[in-house]
Amino acid sequence: MIKAKKSLGQNFLIDANILERIVNVIQIKEKNILEIGPGTGALTSCILKKNPKKVIVVEKDKNLAETLEQNFRDEVTVINKDILEIDEHSLINEKFTVFGNLPYNISTEILSKWIINLKDGFWFDHLVLMFQKEVANRIISKFNTSTYGRLSILANWKLKIVKICDIKPVSFSPKPKVDSSLLLFTPKNKIFKIEDPKNLEKVTRVFFSHRRKMLKKPFNQLFNGDQKILDKFKIDLNLRPQNLDFETYYQLTSEYENLRS
Ligand code: SAM
Repeated sequence: MIKAKKSLGQNFLIDANILERIVNVIQIKEKNILEIGPGTGALTSCILKKNPKKVIVVEKDKNLAETLEQNFRDEVTVINKDILEIDEHSLINEKFTVFGNLPYNISTEILSKWIINLKDGFWFDHLVLMFQKEVANRIISKFNTSTYGRLSILANWKLKIVKICDIKPVSFSPKPKVDSSLLLFTPKNKIFKIEDPKNLEKVTRVFFSHRRKMLKKPFNQLFNGDQKILDKFKIDLNLRPQNLDFETYYQLTSEYENLRS
């Protein structure tokens, strides 16, 4: 019997219907699969049944990684490492389809890292990822909502995002305290050009540092009250950060880069 480690966010999926649902979100046959945090390998087994081309799993827990090695010997490449320390571009020179019931404490860090570190093009064709429901709602939220913010602006910059389903705590062992949601991410064909994603992070950090306050202060901080920019994007400084849509944040980041170049 495996004792789950809370520090590694170990809540193992035990619901066969949900496992089946996850592997049916997109086609796996003949694909290169990267699974993050396979744990006891329940999802890995379901993935293998769909005849992938290659399966690589990244599991930080040494004991679990050893058990996975034994159980899946020739079928799976097990990497016993922290996913945050891996350069995914170096794993394979073909595209991955990524699955992960992510450890909740680092799920947003993983997603942000993947978006920010994208070099020339995408190393994945789809991401099928499970998050804490509240985090998933922040990722998919649109402007003019209370959950809209830095995470959705960053994620929607390069990815199309669809919610597949919500998952109740009873589907896991041990049961988490919160509901979960499964999201499907697909690279966008047309991506707004930003030179350095760190500038998007900076611009959104300044705007959302006081999400209930009006736009005036952060705008002045970044653009020194530049009226031309306000007119160009028809920005009303009496609005709040959540009232500007994705596109406006990308455009403002581009202006910010122009000012600094
Ligand atoms: N996929 C399994 C399932 O659905 O039953 C387990 C999911 S559990 C929520 C998260 C898994 O990620 C655990 O197996 C945990 O050990 C692993 N993990 C936690 N932090 C990690 C990290 N930084 N890098 C790689 N794996 C990690």
